[in-house]
Amino acid sequence: MPARTYRPSPRNLRLLAAALRRGELVAMPTETVYGLAANALDARACRKIFAAKRRPANDPLIVHVPDLRAAEKLAVFNEAARVLAKKFWPGPLTLVLPKRAVVPGIVTSGQDTVALRSPAHPLARRLLQLAGIPLAAPSANPFGYVSPTTAEHVHAGLGRRIKHILDGGACPVGVESTIVDVSDPHRLRVLRPGAISARQLSDVLRAAGLRATVSQPQRKPQVLAPGLLDQHYSPHTPLSLCTRIASALRHEPGSKTALIFWRKPAGHARKNWHWLSDAGSPEQAARNFYSLLRRTDATGHTRIVAEKAPASAGHLGVAINDRLTRAAGKRRAPGSR
Ligand code: AMP
Ligand code: MG
Repeated sequence: MPARTYRPSPRNLRLLAAALRRGELVAMPTETVYGLAANALDARACRKIFAAKRRPANDPLIVHVPDLRAAEKLAVFNEAARVLAKKFWPGPLTLVLPKRAVVPGIVTSGQDTVALRSPAHPLARRLLQLAGIPLAAPSANPFGYVSPTTAEHVHAGLGRRIKHILDGGACPVGVESTIVDVSDPHRLRVLRPGAISARQLSDVLRAAGLRATVSQPQRKPQVLAPGLLDQHYSPHTPLSLCTRIASALRHEPGSKTALIFWRKPAGHARKNWHWLSDAGSPEQAARNFYSLLRRTDATGHTRIVAEKAPASAGHLGVAINDRLTRAAGKRRAPGSR
């Protein structure tokens, strides 16, 4: 039976919270992307996430909590982590901290740290509140494909593998959370760039009188964050990147290639031209990013060429370029890891 999509009525929210408590999976909107949620304290329920997404067991899950109090039951917080949670939660910031024994090993892929986030989306918050349990929730898409930012995207990817999808419209941020490892409170490491920058994190820590360095994401952080693969978020159509599309156009005047511009090009647009923003707004580009990647993937072109975000797009531009680079990443040979 295909998945049922639920409007967010009070009755449906109660029903979905009960399904989560029974150990079922529910796809839910968050402010970043749609998540595929399960009871984070129930190893059997979490195993269903890995099965539905065909996600390898060495890719740990982010656990969603209503607030800092609930988070402290799952992980050992230090002062730096508390300061960041108080400042940025609810919001698109994930903290990696030493886990407590209640968190099943399957959630953390056997690691002794757990990734925690308190989402800001009112529907995710309502489900957390009604269910009364922490929710493990990776993006609600088949592993490796483009992340979902609408209920339709979830249905297209997982509609035959899950039963419940909560429709909350389009996600307001559009790219995944910033992940920061705070297990060493003096040396924080950003593992994945997102809507909150390393600079914002270090400013807040300094203002609180804490001495800490915050390092930028490494190109190859697989050891610390095993899910951050070179190839991820990928459309089926081969994707290549360029810094200025005008130069790419010279090599590709034909219409077999779909072009994704950073901002709307001047002049008369062609049918195979798409753009992430009207006038270069990084926020609008982030909101459109995954939808546009999916739409161009469905147009039947043999290739997609996308323009990278310019440096002026700031940390959201960095987050988008991180996803673009992985989306264009080399596919591994079948069976190889
Ligand atoms: P997502 O699939 O967007 O929910 O992102 C989950 C990602 O969070 C994983 O792929 C890891 O890169 C990262 N992550 C989750 N738990 C941990 C952890 N304990 N330590 C480091 N990174 C983690
Ligand atoms: Mg994901």
